Amino acid sequence: MNFSELSLSDPLLRAIQDEGYSTPTPIQQQAIPYVLEGRDLLGVAQTGTGKTAAFALPILQRLGRPARGRRAIRTLVLAPTRELAAQIGDSFSAYGRYTALNHAVIFGGVGQRLQVNALRRGVDILIATPGRLLDLMNQGHIDLSHVSIFVLDEADRMLDMGFVHDVRKVVTELPTRRQTLLFSATMPTEIVKLSRRILDDPVRVEVTPSASTVEKVRQAVLFVEKADKRRLLSEVLTSPGIRRALVFTRTKHGANRVVKHLLRDGHSAVAIHGNKSQRARERALRNFKDGSIRVLVATDIAARGIDVEAVTHVVNLDLPNVPEQYVHRIGRTARAGAGGMALSFCDREEIAYLLDIEQLIRQEIPVVQQHPYRGEFDRNTPATERPPEDQPRKKSRNRWGGRGGWRGHGKR
Ligand code: AMP
Repeated sequence: MNFSELSLSDPLLRAIQDEGYSTPTPIQQQAIPYVLEGRDLLGVAQTGTGKTAAFALPILQRLGRPARGRRAIRTLVLAPTRELAAQIGDSFSAYGRYTALNHAVIFGGVGQRLQVNALRRGVDILIATPGRLLDLMNQGHIDLSHVSIFVLDEADRMLDMGFVHDVRKVVTELPTRRQTLLFSATMPTEIVKLSRRILDDPVRVEVTPSASTVEKVRQAVLFVEKADKRRLLSEVLTSPGIRRALVFTRTKHGANRVVKHLLRDGHSAVAIHGNKSQRARERALRNFKDGSIRVLVATDIAARGIDVEAVTHVVNLDLPNVPEQYVHRIGRTARAGAGGMALSFCDREEIAYLLDIEQLIRQEIPVVQQHPYRGEFDRNTPATERPPEDQPRKKSRNRWGGRGGWRGHGKR
């Protein structure tokens, strides 16, 4: 199938050609016709599947021309993070470049003046994170009464980030007669409930990213004791084949520590997470994209939606406890056709997570047996031989002043 079979207008087809896309992705093939028809849609798909174009293209087509007189917000897109919102904005710029429609992106963490100015000038499409949107609504800068298409992107992430109340509040401000598109990578019960409330007779479109993403990425697991992970990372990163690596940690604090460690070992690295200012995040991303920084260390939330082509390696310094997260993470290195490699560091306490992940992706991840910090355990090590939590170890580390202490004692 090619794009011209999707009844898209010439200005959109030209933009698609400029982007270099030859065939629509599965989510685009399935969703675009329904969205063009004006149907509500429940899209089960994650970032990396081409879902932004799956909604942006038909929306641009349906909006047609800007309203006569002053522009009014006719499409609202809610996204969970600033990065994702900015990226969706970039997509609308790209796909809408031959249309007369415009858009604005608003998110928190930066001054509101420029955003308010843009709103005053009038926008057709507004892309926003929930917090800043509500804030500007409360200040009277935003009128949602003309919205005819509402998109809720990454709904599961919104839920994780505690945005559900905000989303509900926004929805109550929208006209009831509207088209609603909800995208979510996973479908926990809360999302099912929310979708029942905000969607009207939706078509459900599902792509199976798990299989398709996973197939494109070479994967490996390295068993390593927790205390050796950072050293192992430094070692692994000496490989020249790793041109651009995205390293995941579970916490912001962890991300900062890893960066410190890497810098000390002479690697170029920067962290990106919610505690960083918007400017710092943008700079980090820019430097990572242009290659001046080779290693980006991120938490899941910060990394969600980051679209950096040519990430050659994803390193899971910590295994995620939600198996779907693993698929999201490794998907960063399998962008639109370019395969990559995912390395997962697994300590004793994470074996259960590893097994959950393998169950989800229905394959056993190959083990790197030879590496300088190989832990003396594997996926079959019984739970009884794994320490319950890292708490006691931390204590003993303090008491004996360094990890050599407790390691040498051989007793736990
Ligand atoms: P998304 O899932 O929307 O974040 O898109 C992931 C990546 O796929 C982006 O870099 C898009 O530019 C790219 N992409 C989207 N649609 C296509 C397509 N039909 N062919 C090739 N690349 C695409």
